Amino acid sequence: MNTETSTTETNLTAARSAAAYAATSATTPLRPFTIERRALRPSDVRIEILYTGVCHSDLHMARNEWGSSIYPIVPGHEIVGRVSAVGENVTNFKEGDLAAVGCMVDSCQDCASCADGLEQYCEKGLTLTYNSKESDGTITYGGYSDSIVVTENFVLHVSDKLDLKATAPLLCAGITLYSPLRHWKAGPGMNVGIIGLGGLGHMGVKFAHAMGAKVTVITTSVGKEEDARRLGADGVLLSKDATALEKAANSFDLLMNTIPVDHDLNPYVALLKRDATMVIVGAIEPITHDFATAQIVLKRRSIAGSLIGGIEETQEMLDYCAEHHIVSDVEMIEMDQINEAYERMLKSDVKYRFVIDMASLKKAA
Ligand code: NAP
Ligand code: ZN
Repeated sequence: MNTETSTTETNLTAARSAAAYAATSATTPLRPFTIERRALRPSDVRIEILYTGVCHSDLHMARNEWGSSIYPIVPGHEIVGRVSAVGENVTNFKEGDLAAVGCMVDSCQDCASCADGLEQYCEKGLTLTYNSKESDGTITYGGYSDSIVVTENFVLHVSDKLDLKATAPLLCAGITLYSPLRHWKAGPGMNVGIIGLGGLGHMGVKFAHAMGAKVTVITTSVGKEEDARRLGADGVLLSKDATALEKAANSFDLLMNTIPVDHDLNPYVALLKRDATMVIVGAIEPITHDFATAQIVLKRRSIAGSLIGGIEETQEMLDYCAEHHIVSDVEMIEMDQINEAYERMLKSDVKYRFVIDMASLKKAA
């Protein structure tokens, strides 16, 4: 091997600084920040990020709303890009491939959940894409950045049939709805309600419709009815309309609740048929409203929860999307518009996912 080749190889696998956007405290806006991406380990893939979706979890974490944020924090877990280098043991990816990363970058790979392909429920604790500790103790930085290094087991393949910018949100919003809809067997003959038409909710409408279920959007926003129908909903219920809710009582087989904050569960549970389930995927914080347990006891109803999806299922979802021409409805933003995007998200003013064009990071940094 001549010296020139060996220098090139070293450069490709060496640690590198990366441009990013970070929050440095719960109350400061996100701003340009430089991070280091590690030298490639034998099983690592380096990805140059093209697009990153903006999840409501990014906002929760940037502002420490779940009390676990470690600053500086670089959010972003809906990542699509192109592979620029691979470690010597990588077999599934090569330079130039399209690649995607979602909410997880590692897990123990050893517990019963990991063995079942449910790494999101890793019993020893999974490593999230940002604000999480790697096995060597370093804190992970997410996709509001120009590159990322991830072990190949947690990197997904993306079909070149998909519109890449609209694919990014599939990596969190998409899988978070796809997985429970599959688990609770959404399909023909089922009446499925999607509560909250935001990033997660709009993907829920598309998937439940594609799976053959009858879909109703349950929304607080009067102005979203037309969009809901365009996205695939058969009906719309305004959650502020008590009469409409009363009429719809006992009519749903499955509800997906994407509401991002503490709220009263009672009016939604009343919509379930006997034996039906409401899956909470939105609010992770405590629910402080009183809950009438008679609502579940008297009709054998269930309230369940669900967290993203495993790696194998995420790949299945991406392949399903390529086959069924499903992507997210996106509004593109530049990196320096992120703080404004968060404010709009808080007003439910997103149609239906912000996606950052990472080419803009060079301009913003
Ligand atoms: P989003 O885009 O902001 O959408 C949330 C939607 O919920 C809003 O558009 C709004 O829809 C409705 N909503 C907002 N505030 C409400 C309130 N006070 N009462 C009733 N409805 C309200 O958020 P997202 O990115 O979809 O995320 C939703 C939640 O899921 C976040 O908390 C996020 O952290 C969480 N999450 C969970 C997982 C998981 O694995 N379980 C994964 C990703 C995200 P309408 O205008 O239609 O009412
Ligand atoms: Zn997310």
